[in-house]
Amino acid sequence: MLNIDEIRKDFPLLERKVHNFPLVYMDNGATTQKPRIVIETIKQLYSRQNSSIHRGVHFLSEQITDIFENARNAVKEFLNAAKSHEIIFTSGATGSINTIAYSFGEKHIGPEDEIIVSEMEHHANIVPWQMLCERKRAKLKILPIDDNGKLQIDHLENLFSRKTKILALTHVSNTLGTINPVKKIIEIAHTHNVPVLIDGAQAIQHGTVDVRDLDCDFYVFSGHKVYGPNGIGVLYGKEKWLEELPPYQGGGDMIKSVTFKKTIYNDIPFKFEAGTINYIGAIGLSKALEYLNRLGKQDIEDYETELLKYGTEKLNEIEGLRIYGNAENKICVFSFLLEGIHQYDAGMVLDKMGIAVRTGTHCAQPVMDRFGIQGTIRASLAFYNTKSEIDRLVEALFKVKQMFQ
Ligand code: PMP
Repeated sequence: MLNIDEIRKDFPLLERKVHNFPLVYMDNGATTQKPRIVIETIKQLYSRQNSSIHRGVHFLSEQITDIFENARNAVKEFLNAAKSHEIIFTSGATGSINTIAYSFGEKHIGPEDEIIVSEMEHHANIVPWQMLCERKRAKLKILPIDDNGKLQIDHLENLFSRKTKILALTHVSNTLGTINPVKKIIEIAHTHNVPVLIDGAQAIQHGTVDVRDLDCDFYVFSGHKVYGPNGIGVLYGKEKWLEELPPYQGGGDMIKSVTFKKTIYNDIPFKFEAGTINYIGAIGLSKALEYLNRLGKQDIEDYETELLKYGTEKLNEIEGLRIYGNAENKICVFSFLLEGIHQYDAGMVLDKMGIAVRTGTHCAQPVMDRFGIQGTIRASLAFYNTKSEIDRLVEALFKVKQMFQ
């Protein structure tokens, strides 16, 4: 069992006051706060160990290269990938999806080809595919969701055709919280010989992800949403794909030799890591993953499920409050609206009471269109949140109601 009081001490930012109230941070879907071990590691790296990776023969360069490659190995272990060269460091989930949309698209997508995404995707898993479709005159096909915010899996078979080239799907919806049955969907896609990219930006921080068990072809996530630094992300790809796909960007490190006649690309993972990548971020990320391992992924999942149950009950007691996203299998995210009150007004009043939530479309405009709304108030929780913070949210929402009604 997690000791939340002790855990909260690991996150200096949680000690802050905002507008004279102790901060209630419930915008973890946007970004998570960082444990001391991540902050201290970055400070230590810049103070004592900084040097460019893979470049020098000198002590510092060799040392940081080792630490960096250990970080890659830590990500490999965390995802249970088969090989560490299947782990590519990128700038984030968005960078990872763009990498595959470009590289896979260059090699495998032509006119009239089809790409499947779902109606609940974040814009990061829609727009890169739309850009690819524009470039190659291909088509996007959409797997719809139902009123509870669940994928309508029974529509999936009909979406496949001989022209389907790839399926890109979020593991967990950032807006609705729905945990998708990705393993089953991957299995179905593979029966059609269609590879699958899973957007794990909202999944990796809430439970165990095992890419070998899922058998996904690509899995992506961002460091900053999993208690790590900003500007670093991960693209996992099966070796066979990464070997055969062309590089996304050109530059230093991604080559073996360069002449004006011909350039020979480097082996994976370096083929996909052009330029001086964010090695400090990668090492910071590995510390965040180490921290999560220490807490225990199952304990995190159990505690967050308890928060979800408690929060759902409490929020449903508020008359006129509607939660969007009521799948049985969901993470601890509450997207909701108060009848007759604009989400921005509610969000601003909550802020004045020290409660940080997000309002708007959450970069998932098609989800809003599906429900015929402009946006929601989203409280997205992490394992450092508490039931008493949920009580403060609920109390504050009653005050919002009083003010506006
Ligand atoms: N996918 C999902 C499901 C997300 O929630 C987000 C971030 N909100 C992204 C992709 C993009 O992540 P980033 O901005 O860190 O690249």
